[in-house]
Amino acid sequence: MSIRQKIVALHASLPQGVRLVAVSKFHPAEAIKEAYDAGQRIFGESRVQELVVKHEALPKDIEWQMIGHLQTNKVRQIVPFIALVQSVDSVRLIECINREAERIGRVVDILLEIHVAQEDSKTGWRYDELETFLQGEGFKSLKNVRVRGIMGMATNTDDEAVIRADFERLAGHYNALKPRFDESFDTLSMGMSDDYNVAIECGSTMVRIGSSIFGERY
Ligand SMILES: *Cc1c(COP(=O)(O)O)cnc(C)c1O
Repeated sequence: MSIRQKIVALHASLPQGVRLVAVSKFHPAEAIKEAYDAGQRIFGESRVQELVVKHEALPKDIEWQMIGHLQTNKVRQIVPFIALVQSVDSVRLIECINREAERIGRVVDILLEIHVAQEDSKTGWRYDELETFLQGEGFKSLKNVRVRGIMGMATNTDDEAVIRADFERLAGHYNALKPRFDESFDTLSMGMSDDYNVAIECGSTMVRIGSSIFGERY
């Protein structure tokens, strides 16, 4: 199937209420344009430099999202145009995004990335640490970020029971946090090419799909 056909097939098969982020990292602008021409408007990238270059080269109605680990010294480059930062995983980073957004008079939508996978390597908050932060005065003073929900990844394994348990934990955290925010807290971002169907069964409202659309990354 071509990129176009894959986008059309995904849009047809995803349940209502589940948004598709086409993860285009490492793939060229032409591949993104093909997905765009098939109707896709939300694209996820994991590196700031690549994101900035692609934002400049491609149509302006694309909704660019940052899904990879974000260093504070690169925040300034994306804050003017980014639609959603999914990978917010520390106090330092959230404060930095808030400061840069305030400087240019924007409110930036973010997701809080929560670590549930059984691997040390993956980024994200520990849930108890996140709770402590959200209850503090420091969080209440941040006026230029809007928390839209949470993001997470399952353990990298073929064992579907483990993957499902990870997604269920994320969904539990999402439901626990939701009452503390207003109705703009509506996004549970979980599910990638190999596990998005399980994620949707567990309540995902946003899937991040790369290789199933664009092929392998090199
Ligand atoms: C690369 C990446 C994806 C997409 O992974 P695929 O397996 O190619 O679908 C999703 N989420 C994050 C955070 C990623 O870094």
